[in-house]
Amino acid sequence: MNSDTFDVIVIGGGLAGLTSAIHLAKSNFQVALIEKQGYPKHKVCGEYISNEVLPYLKFLDFDPFEFGAKKITDFELTTHNNKKIEARLPLGGFGMSRYEMDFQLFNRAQKSGVQILQDTVEDVQFSDDIFQIKTKTNRTLTSKITIGAFGKRSNLDIKFNRDFIKKKSPYLGVKIHVSGDFEDTKVALHNFKGGYCGVSKVENDHINLCYITNYESFKNYKNIEQFQEKVIFKNEALKTIFSSSIPQFERPLTISQISFETKNPVENHMLMCGDSAGMIHPLCGNGMGMAIQSAKLASDLIIRYLKADIDNRQALEDLYAKSWNKTFRLRLRVGHTIAYLFRQDWLAPKLLVLLRRLPFLVPLIIKMTHGKPIKI
Ligand SMILES: Cc1cc2nc3c(=O)[nH]c(=O)nc-3n(C[C@H](O)[C@H](O)[C@H](O)COP(=O)(O)OP(=O)(O)OC[C@H]3O[C@@H](n4cnc5c(N)ncnc54)[C@H](O)[C@@H]3O)c2cc1C
Repeated sequence: MNSDTFDVIVIGGGLAGLTSAIHLAKSNFQVALIEKQGYPKHKVCGEYISNEVLPYLKFLDFDPFEFGAKKITDFELTTHNNKKIEARLPLGGFGMSRYEMDFQLFNRAQKSGVQILQDTVEDVQFSDDIFQIKTKTNRTLTSKITIGAFGKRSNLDIKFNRDFIKKKSPYLGVKIHVSGDFEDTKVALHNFKGGYCGVSKVENDHINLCYITNYESFKNYKNIEQFQEKVIFKNEALKTIFSSSIPQFERPLTISQISFETKNPVENHMLMCGDSAGMIHPLCGNGMGMAIQSAKLASDLIIRYLKADIDNRQALEDLYAKSWNKTFRLRLRVGHTIAYLFRQDWLAPKLLVLLRRLPFLVPLIIKMTHGKPIKI
């Protein structure tokens, strides 16, 4: 095989890209992964990961607890007017920063023989059953299969003229790590007018504070500090955490244009994984779980295709689209409905009263936005 020809090329080295690359390299295929950023790097993310991915991570020889991930078993929710509910998480999860998790998976991928290139993919052409990938540094690579794992928004979405990229999205995300007091075993979702903030601890004992809001709420304030003081601090739990902790970043990380529009799981013959295929509302805390699970779905089918157990490309694409929709479509819909209901300031406190009266509903709702432990 020529040095720039691979069985599989993975575009994007977040959780979906890294886990699929490790899976395929472990099965002895020649895999290249192209990631535009270096490792390690902080990302805007709540950093609470559902335990449903643990069996699959074990299969990939990756144990998050080896790197100090926090076991999370308890859930707390407050409304913007400070009503609170607590519950035990049905399956639980763990807290690990993206800085550490992506970096350790990158190390694991290198050990498995994945060729990792730091470069930006600028074009993907498909003809004669072969993908040709062009990068910013003028490299051309070819492969039998390409996985699109380039996240929620990429230059390639514009290149492929994907529908969601044509619509403006009102959501933005802000994240900061702080040091202070917070239970290791808890993930909290504190709502404020126009958004919510996730709080949980990560491997190095820092507390991750990550919130999502919309421009409508944000635009009336001069800067993040003023927005936090005037809007976020109306939630007493958030006021306490923000004002009693010490920031560990020079300034918060921000991202904009977070879109929850429907996307296709197959695009230009690429199998799309993670946020590139569809994004669940972060309120559900399951985007990373879905990214990792979609990597497994794609990898299992790609292995069958490369071993000629699936006859042709159309069959591969149909099988992937079908299994992606079956596994995730309902989760996405439920997640977006819950987020919509909690965004209605008049309704959220009423919902909370209902959940307090019928507490068995909380784990049921969480289960509807999560999957079962991934079967190997
Ligand atoms: C505010 C917020 C809070 C969240 N909180 C949680 C949470 O608590 N729990 C949870 O499970 N999920 C959460 N999520 C969702 C979670 O962050 C995503 O679902 C997850 O990161 C998806 O992983 P991915 O691999 O698909 O994408 P990413 O991690 O975004 O990786 C995509 C990669 O592709 C690279 N890339 C893009 N274009 C190119 C290109 N052309 N060439 C090369 N590389 C490219 C990017 O640099 C990036 O590294 C949250 C999301 C947001 C926005």
